[in-house]
Amino acid sequence: MASTSISTSAPIMEVFASIQGEGAFAGEAQVFLRLAGCPLRCEWCDTPHSWSVDEGRSARIATPEGSKRHSAWANPFQAATWVAACEPREARTVSVTGGEPLMWPEFLLGLPDMLAGRRVHLETAAAHPETLRRVAPVFDHLSLDLKLPEDMGDVVPIGVGGVNAEPSPRTPSDWTRVRREVLAIAAERDACAKIVVRSARPMSAYLPLLEDLERLAPTLPLYLTPVSPMAGVAAPEPEFLEDLVEEARDLHLDVRVIPQLHRVLSIP
Ligand code: SF4
Repeated sequence: MASTSISTSAPIMEVFASIQGEGAFAGEAQVFLRLAGCPLRCEWCDTPHSWSVDEGRSARIATPEGSKRHSAWANPFQAATWVAACEPREARTVSVTGGEPLMWPEFLLGLPDMLAGRRVHLETAAAHPETLRRVAPVFDHLSLDLKLPEDMGDVVPIGVGGVNAEPSPRTPSDWTRVRREVLAIAAERDACAKIVVRSARPMSAYLPLLEDLERLAPTLPLYLTPVSPMAGVAAPEPEFLEDLVEEARDLHLDVRVIPQLHRVLSIP
């Protein structure tokens, strides 16, 4: 594929209708547009199959008539036709997820215009503030993960042409910097913050996240999501979650606890 085409296209993993499982719109019927490629390595990641951009992979388009396969690389117009094909009836809000969607900023910038008046939400690890600043104005809602540096493995660059060149955070001080920058961007927008909470982390690991939120984006709703247990990573004790909620309330944050609904309901 020519590089000019790659720059406005993104590798699509799947498009499907489901129920939003996280954040401010949990429970809403949406269509999900999942982009492949993520250089980060959250130790509790539930979509590790989204990390690589495999040239041989195709996109799964889950229409009401059944799943179809198409060449993965798509421009915003093609992706919008797949969204329409996946909607069971009325048009739905579209959540762009990953992977890390910020790896494909030109695609993101072109997408909302193709979606004909639908609300378009962005789910992001919030690790690339320069890119978020560029694309945020075209989205109706930003759903930002605030990461604990302790939860992150080594960065693995995505080795394909056209991918975002903004460096990914690697050190705890990098993560502090990007967190503060993305919160300053989100403070002026329709957005929410999410923190995945796992066991075996001290309260002191979470407090810098809460304090930055209170200082930089105090009106942003905060959703604490206990990790769904998986290999080597356990959910936090209920008492720890309650203590964390109280720490957030002490800072006057608008905090809620929501489990990953799609895991609870066994839906995609
Ligand atoms: S940012 Fe998302 S896709 Fe990437 S490793 Fe973390 S949870 Fe997985």
